[in-house]
Amino acid sequence: METTNTYRFFQCRVCKLSFDNRTDALAHEQAGGYRINIFGESRANHRAISMEVRGTRREDIKCGGRCLVATGPDCECQCGGEHHGRYAA
Ligand SMILES: [Zn+2]
Ligand SMILES: [Zn+2]
Ligand SMILES: [Zn+2]
Repeated sequence: METTNTYRFFQCRVCKLSFDNRTDALAHEQAGGYRINIFGESRANHRAISMEVRGTRREDIKCGGRCLVATGPDCECQCGGEHHGRYAA
């Protein structure tokens, strides 16, 4: 039987960092990001939005790059959504 999980995390729209909870996401917004981007715009408006992933655990589908950078909400692979979209750019 398939197992479906829902994962929620926050991702900054500017630097694409992801956060597991709202507290960390807010701290990031207030700090204006942890990293200065290549243009030196340290004052860019960092804004973390809430992301929701519906994951279906599939032992036969290896988790990898495609999952980590995914931008859609649905995941079908080994991680069951745990790593889904965490490195989406
Ligand atoms: Zn940021
Ligand atoms: Zn995965
Ligand atoms: Zn995935």
